[in-house]
Amino acid sequence: MTTSDGTVQGHTQIHGTAPRNRAFTIVLLGDGFTAAQQTAFNTACTQFVTALTLTPPFNRIGRMINIWRVNVTSTDSGADDPVSAGGTGATARTYFDSRFGENGIRRLLVCNNSTVLQTAAAQVPEFTVALVVVNSTIFGGSGGSVGTYSLADGATEIALHEIGHTAYGLADEYAFYADENETGHDYHPFGEPAEPNVTTRTERTSLKWGWTVAGTTALPTMSNPNCAKVDTRPSTVPAGRVGCFEGAHYYHCRAFRPEHNCKMRELGNPFCQVCLQVIRARTKRAKNICALTPMKDAVYRYDGSGTSWTRIGDAAGQIYAGGWGLVATNPSSGDLYRYVGTPNLWEHIGGAGASFAVGTDTVYALTPNKDAVYRYTGMGTSWTKIGGPAGQIYAGEWGRGLVSTSTSTGDLRAYLDIADTWRLIGVAGSAFAVATDSVYRLTPTKDAVYRYRGWGISWAKIGDAAHSIVAGDI
Ligand SMILES: [Zn+2]
Repeated sequence: MTTSDGTVQGHTQIHGTAPRNRAFTIVLLGDGFTAAQQTAFNTACTQFVTALTLTPPFNRIGRMINIWRVNVTSTDSGADDPVSAGGTGATARTYFDSRFGENGIRRLLVCNNSTVLQTAAAQVPEFTVALVVVNSTIFGGSGGSVGTYSLADGATEIALHEIGHTAYGLADEYAFYADENETGHDYHPFGEPAEPNVTTRTERTSLKWGWTVAGTTALPTMSNPNCAKVDTRPSTVPAGRVGCFEGAHYYHCRAFRPEHNCKMRELGNPFCQVCLQVIRARTKRAKNICALTPMKDAVYRYDGSGTSWTRIGDAAGQIYAGGWGLVATNPSSGDLYRYVGTPNLWEHIGGAGASFAVGTDTVYALTPNKDAVYRYTGMGTSWTKIGGPAGQIYAGEWGRGLVSTSTSTGDLRAYLDIADTWRLIGVAGSAFAVATDSVYRLTPTKDAVYRYRGWGISWAKIGDAAHSIVAGDI
């Protein structure tokens, strides 16, 4: 039942190429896996990575996430399953002392959090969130300061739900605590829950997710007609509609969730719009401003206060930055280097280009003669061709993260994340800027600024003459 019941074997990175000091880092630790069962733990970790990288929003931001597994052996296989919570009474001597039945609820699977946090910090010091993979097919998990999940059917769904708690502070959106027949859960207590995805207040003006509610959506959107029970009716509005649906945060009534369903309510569903936005926002890491000196003989990163800067690199031809990080060209060869996160540590990732653009999850290159656009794979010096000739490329958070101009007409095309597949979205401009919400265009004569409406080639004028435009977290 203690750390004498096993051994920490070591850590292995199994996903991600983000610089270690900027990554959102998930550490998976095994419990209840004997020395002979480590392969099963490794397989479970691989399944977790696959599920995570296929699930929105992680499928878009997954490359900002590094995932490590920490192999830990336990004397016995499994976890404690006390009879008092309806379990078999099984006990297992495991390193993190995992046990079902917390608060008398069998599916609440907990462990020794302080041992987990100490082990994670010792193995992967920059970890953001620690998740314990428990070697049992009994359904269970929990999401406190440490997340846990078992290897029941749909295990990866449990894991993604628990990450919602542990890494992103999301609440359970289901309307009961122990089970649907319990008493004492008819009405949510007064007072607003702190979590971003549940509320007791449905006034349109003060609703915490009001930014994503259409003016035509009724509030509340669905009210529970019988507060003695969980409302199990199907949705009265189309799936994905954001409003206020009664029944959330362990109570049948007087607590509301943003959509009819969500992975924080019922496994197997996508995250709702509010949970998606919370995950996106909290996965992004702090951005830094960097500068190339006037003589181009050194690269500096601003320290964040006063006038203090840290020298992080030597001479460079040009520097480019974005959500994915910082890259610089070699002043003589033109080769591209990525800043790895430690001063003066740079990794060679590619050859010369006419220009580069850093997106949220990788870097894009325009070939020296501008006849093709390439996307960095994240590995070594490997790049994939994704488009033909382009005049200029711009990367950012909007859409699939990349737009380019036509060499002949100057027209703007958006990359659709499929090789050689681009969509015409606008006419020529003197400059473009890719923001979080849209693409912006300065006209060829610089007499007006336009914002892309998001469909066809429809743009709205939003400003008059400008010398130049840029987009950033301002
Ligand atoms: Zn949700």
